[in-house]
Amino acid sequence: MNDTTARERLVSIGASLFARGLTGGSSGNLSVRTDDGILITPTNTSLGRIDPARLSVLSAAGEHLSGDRPSKEAFLHLAMYRVRTDDHAVVHLHATNAVAVSCLSDVDDDDVLPALTPYFVMRVGKVPRLPYFAPGDPAAEPAVLAAARRHRAVLLANHGPVLGAATPEAAADAIEELEETARLYLLTRGMPIRPLTAEQVAELAPRE
Ligand SMILES: [Zn+2]
Repeated sequence: MNDTTARERLVSIGASLFARGLTGGSSGNLSVRTDDGILITPTNTSLGRIDPARLSVLSAAGEHLSGDRPSKEAFLHLAMYRVRTDDHAVVHLHATNAVAVSCLSDVDDDDVLPALTPYFVMRVGKVPRLPYFAPGDPAAEPAVLAAARRHRAVLLANHGPVLGAATPEAAADAIEELEETARLYLLTRGMPIRPLTAEQVAELAPRE
């Protein structure tokens, strides 16, 4: 993907996520891996008003090459790219329902959301919850590296999801699926639910 196309796609996806309430204020960040480096939203940027000319450009090692100062959460994106070599886009949101699930005390940290629908299994797959780290704490990096080798999405405790995909559009669709599944899970908590069986999940062959 060339630089101009990547900038346009980030602007369009950011506006769409913001307009639909998936992220508010200046929270959340988007990135794309291009031929020239990693394009990421600058610090304190509202995803609803991304200026394509001011996006930060980082090297794969995290060196700031051009544009505005990157988000202090950029290292989460770099960690995803390092181990998920087929992914070219990463999204991190403070989406309400996913954050609510990230704050629950009685969930399985290895598999935080039940396989409620086939779409969730196909687009996202199993999601582990990582421990709590203060925003920008580099100690989160090894935890993300370890989990992202086997999972498209990880949920940071008391914070929110980080998700990688092949394209920015696929990443946006998948994180929306994760957010909707978190909402369904919260809606059905306390009710006897029937998640998909292990056989049904296996038939869906998630592309993690
Ligand atoms: Zn965050």
